[in-house]
Amino acid sequence: MNIHVIGIGLIGGSMVLDIKSLHPDATIYGIDTNESHLAEAIALGVIDKAATFEDLADADFVIVSVPVDVALMVLPKVLDAIGENTIVFEVGSTKTPICEAVANHPKRRNYIATHPIAGTEFSGPSAAIKGLFQGKTNIICEVEKTTFKLQEKALELFKSLGMRIRYMDPKSHDKHIAYVSHLSHISAFMLGKTVINKEKDEQDIFDMAGSGFESTVRLAKSSPAMWTPIFKQNKKQVVKTLEEYISNLSHFKALLEKDDYEAIYNEMRSVNRIKEILNGMKK
Ligand code: NAP
Repeated sequence: MNIHVIGIGLIGGSMVLDIKSLHPDATIYGIDTNESHLAEAIALGVIDKAATFEDLADADFVIVSVPVDVALMVLPKVLDAIGENTIVFEVGSTKTPICEAVANHPKRRNYIATHPIAGTEFSGPSAAIKGLFQGKTNIICEVEKTTFKLQEKALELFKSLGMRIRYMDPKSHDKHIAYVSHLSHISAFMLGKTVINKEKDEQDIFDMAGSGFESTVRLAKSSPAMWTPIFKQNKKQVVKTLEEYISNLSHFKALLEKDDYEAIYNEMRSVNRIKEILNGMKK
């Protein structure tokens, strides 16, 4: 098998690490504009060789794992370069603009639009880890637009990585993901900002920060280069979630100002239900 990964960072790198474990005979090729990432990926054994777009004609699978603004430009070029039986999938955190960018491409049927709901706050090839996708959900959009034979091969690969499959249209994906992923990142970034602005002496932050703060603010370590284009592409949905979130924050503040501790208790009590929801997701 010839597997090409374009963008050898956390997601693309982790995916090919697992593929290589499952298929030791596969050759993993990497394409990345960041030369030091290419060298690092070879040194770490994430990829076997660097490649170019000309090599894509012989690829069995092409994984496009670049920031979502880059995906809009790269994906049509990849489809131009591949062979008749190559399967291309990309893993971007937004789906509507990317699906629209290739809607009329002559090789649209070789492409499968995915979003693996897995990740960490780290980037680059050194962030790639084995087993990242085990037990996680892979959202697939517009599956009917991919040739059935290629769909089957891609699904087999996703399942071998331990992923559950969920089908969704791109607009529903972008609407739902704004709540559970995009808003969570903004909330962590702005929590981090609020604390940093107040505590100019960083030592105080580290002295007083417990594991609760650390786990809540974890996502604020994420890459701005990856997240800015996500917010841009999903602006309408993200603004809507922010309005709802800000309204909830304002309501909480108003209850506190009114000394309405019974209402505050009840607010938190009703949100405790998140425990059961999260436990249910793990089953
Ligand atoms: P990452 O670790 O930053 O890796 C992306 C790689 O692509 C970097 O090496 C980057 O180099 C490279 N790159 C940038 N422009 C390129 C171009 N024009 N051609 C080739 N390579 C290029 O990012 P990631 O976290 O793996 O994210 C990749 C994709 O997965 C994104 O679309 C993201 O939305 C999606 N995703 C991320 C997560 C997550 O939790 N991180 C989860 C699910 C899906 P530079 O660093 O020099 O730019």
